[in-house]
Amino acid sequence: MVPLIGHAALRARLAAAAGRGSLPASVLLHGPRGIGKQRLALWLAQALLCTDPATSDETGELVACGVCRSCRYAAGLTHPDLRWVFPRPRPKDQDIGAAEVAREYADAIAERVRDGMLYGPPDGSEAIYVSTVRALAHDAAMTPAISARKVLVIGDADRMVAQEGADAAANALLKLLEEPPADTTIVLTSSEPGALLPTVRSRVAAIRVAPLDASDIAEWLRQPRVRATLDAAGPAASDADRARRSRGAPGTLLGEATTAATSRATALIDAAQSARASARYRAALQQGAVGARGAFSDVLDALTGQMTARARAAVEQMDDQAAQAACVAVAAVAEAQTRADGNVNPQLVAAGLLRALRIPVPRRG
Ligand SMILES: [Zn+2]
Repeated sequence: MVPLIGHAALRARLAAAAGRGSLPASVLLHGPRGIGKQRLALWLAQALLCTDPATSDETGELVACGVCRSCRYAAGLTHPDLRWVFPRPRPKDQDIGAAEVAREYADAIAERVRDGMLYGPPDGSEAIYVSTVRALAHDAAMTPAISARKVLVIGDADRMVAQEGADAAANALLKLLEEPPADTTIVLTSSEPGALLPTVRSRVAAIRVAPLDASDIAEWLRQPRVRATLDAAGPAASDADRARRSRGAPGTLLGEATTAATSRATALIDAAQSARASARYRAALQQGAVGARGAFSDVLDALTGQMTARARAAVEQMDDQAAQAACVAVAAVAEAQTRADGNVNPQLVAAGLLRALRIPVPRRG
């Protein structure tokens, strides 16, 4: 995965506070979207969880060893004492238990890891639901499994549900922030701290995270994985152009990539309807080769969303034929996702998929 880049001064400050044992139990990292606040929180978590950390004599900074079992799990984001949650689609069942929530987040995190941790902002419908906050409260009460403590990272904490059950979620969180277990550190991140409940804000130590400077942005853009993702998702652009557009927040470029995935998904569906084989082949070839796998999986995610919406529209219009075709297409996309995960060339997967995407457009009601 692409390493955390930048924030040197803030990292030193946090590491020194951790070394002195003076890091507050509940911290809020706030700053513009796309500057790496969640990555920073996860970096801090690794330092706090390391079972063999060094403490610098000069600066008092706590430095993770990077090789112990805890560090390896933390680096792979599979540490049992590290909980990382962020906005997700609404669960079908609001009453799912902590184990199920943990399983779903493990899948979502594995997907982010697979994409090199190059994820865009949450979309408008994603949130942190009450079942997730309840699971966090449950996890906070557990004894650490392999480290001396637990770290809970709540990304985009301002996305705590504003729908039914919001009060319950907020109360569960407040209780946790107010009386965190002694062996638990809670790190919230937010690019819209003004949207946090005042009662949440007053219980956390706010730390401002600054945008990255030009040399850090340049280093980020030089990462091969970053380049492949941006090249595959959008129009070619020079590093200088991308650096200017990022305004110190490289993650915003990934947000553009998410939008690009949506338009590529639409282009695939359109090409599938075309009677001309050449149009379909061209669409398949545009999916890029092996290096573009992360971007292609974004396109498949976007396809799933669009096909599900079509299926729903067809059902509402009682158009059985279109509904069935859309459901077949959703299944075909799921199969394509499996093949893409299994190292099959995106162009081959797309070519196969285009046949299944030839579906009738739902009747207008
Ligand atoms: Zn370690």
